[in-house]
Amino acid sequence: MTSEANNILWQSLSVTKSARAAQKGQAAKCIWFTGLSGAGKTTIANLLDKKLHSRGMHTYILDGDNVRHGLNRDLGFTDIDRIENIRRVAEVAKLMVDAGLIVLVSFISPFRVERLMARNLFEVGEFVEVYVATPLEECEKRDVKGLYAKARRGDLKNFTGLDSPYEEPQAAEIVLHTQAESSDVCVDRVLQVLA
Ligand code: ADP
Repeated sequence: MTSEANNILWQSLSVTKSARAAQKGQAAKCIWFTGLSGAGKTTIANLLDKKLHSRGMHTYILDGDNVRHGLNRDLGFTDIDRIENIRRVAEVAKLMVDAGLIVLVSFISPFRVERLMARNLFEVGEFVEVYVATPLEECEKRDVKGLYAKARRGDLKNFTGLDSPYEEPQAAEIVLHTQAESSDVCVDRVLQVLA
C-alpha cells in the first residue's frame, strides 16, 4: 500500500448493496465468462443480457474489447498488462454489484490466479464463473476476428492459446460446450443456475 493510500479511510455509506439490489427486485451478481478468443463469451453474454433485460432485470455487460477502448486503453497484452486488465475490470464489476446490478463480464481472463483474485472480491454466491470451454482448434476454425490467422503469420504477439497461455478453470460453476450446445441452450444453462 502506498503512503497516500494509508491516509485514506474507508467511508461507510448509508444505502447498502442489498437495499440497492432489493429496490431492483434482484440479487446482485457477477457472472464471469472466461475462455479463448472466439469461444463464444460475448455471443452468450449478449444473449443472456437480452433475456435478463426483457425480464425486467437490471444488468450491464463489461466486454473485454470494449473496455480496452476506454478504461484499459493504456494496457497491452504482456502478462503484467493482462493482470492489470483483470484487476481493473474486477474492481469495476464489484462497484456494479455494489450498485445492485447483475454484471456480465466477458474477458478471456487467461490466468487462474487473476480469476481467483476477482472471485475473492465478492461475497459467497455472488460470483458465478462460466467457462466457455470451446477447444482451440474450433476457435481457430471460427476465427471470427481473423486474429488467429494474424497470430499464426507472426503479426500478433502474445495471443492466448498460441504464444500466451490459457489456464483452464478447475472449479467453474458452469462449463459450456459450444460445439455440442447451441448458444440458446448455453444461455438457458446459465439462467438455471441464476434462478
Ligand atoms: P469471444 O467473445 O469468446 O471471443 P465471440 O462470441 O465473439 O467469442 O465469437 C464466438 C463465435 O462462435 C461467434 O461467431 C458465434 O456465432 C460462434 N458460435 C457457434 N456456436 C456457438 C455457441 N453455441 N455459443 C456461442 N457462440 C457460438
